[in-house]
Amino acid sequence: MEEQLKILKDEIQSSLEQTKGKDALEAIRIKYLGRKGKINSYFREIAKLPVEQRKIYGNRINIIKQELTQQLNVRLSTFKIKSRTDIDLLLPGKVPHTGHLHPLSKIFNELITFFTNFGFSVATGPEIEYDWYNFEALNMAKDHPARDMFSSFYIKEDLLLRSHTSPTQIRVMEKQKPPIKIICPGRCYRYDAFDASHAPVFHQIEALYVDEGVSFGELKWLLGELVKFLFGPKTKYELRPSFFPFTEPSGELAISCTICDGDGCAVCGNTGWLELGGCGMVHPQVLKNVKISPRKYSGYALGMGVDRIAMIKYIIDDIRVFFNNDIRFLEQF
Ligand SMILES: [Zn+2]
Repeated sequence: MEEQLKILKDEIQSSLEQTKGKDALEAIRIKYLGRKGKINSYFREIAKLPVEQRKIYGNRINIIKQELTQQLNVRLSTFKIKSRTDIDLLLPGKVPHTGHLHPLSKIFNELITFFTNFGFSVATGPEIEYDWYNFEALNMAKDHPARDMFSSFYIKEDLLLRSHTSPTQIRVMEKQKPPIKIICPGRCYRYDAFDASHAPVFHQIEALYVDEGVSFGELKWLLGELVKFLFGPKTKYELRPSFFPFTEPSGELAISCTICDGDGCAVCGNTGWLELGGCGMVHPQVLKNVKISPRKYSGYALGMGVDRIAMIKYIIDDIRVFFNNDIRFLEQF
């Protein structure tokens, strides 16, 4: 039996070595492993052996059987891959579905890039704010009529959801001495009705520059650069006189309508102009409130609605789409 098993093993090995084709390997499988195959005939031979030898030779045959099965499987598996002619290697691959940035995040990132290139650093502050930071330090005393236009959500008498990002300017000026050159991006809250152009939560970015000899001319120049950066070099802009309690003089920035090029359309209300935000020189009283001498220092501030910029830039006529999380809308950016 010992001799016979050795012959069987050698025979199998040499057959495997000489065989190349898939059909030939299949023939080997049938010849040795099939129901009427050689290995089963050896098992039948074992039955004729004395009891004590049956187990020993049974194990040996089993090992031969397992090795052959394994070798056949390995060789046949290479044919499986080669024969998959249904794969067209020239087809483009499947692109994994990845998320991307919200249009507001994109505008925020662009604005942060613009301002940091001009030496501004990013400052953040709390969204629940004290009355002092949101109003009083910004030159709006308790009974100041300008408070009305901020439509603030009050939590307690002295505590509210910030209605603009200017409180962050106060917080920075309280802690830091000039030169101060910061931008404050973030969320703001007002109890405006939720309609096509108003949302109870919206986004602003403000810039503040305080140092010796800062002039309105620098502010005007920076606004011009910003308009070109955001809307292209052909966009015209103008500064109109305005009023804010925290700046003096105050201005409002308007750009030529990017949709009708200034000819007049529904978006710009046939005026040819779109208002973008407010700006001005920091009011001396505001500097005094944070213990910065207005005799020595001056500064400019500007603020803009980020939602509004995104709506103008991407021609979106309803602010509510920013908050709906509709994937069909978001995928367009
Ligand atoms: Zn227009």
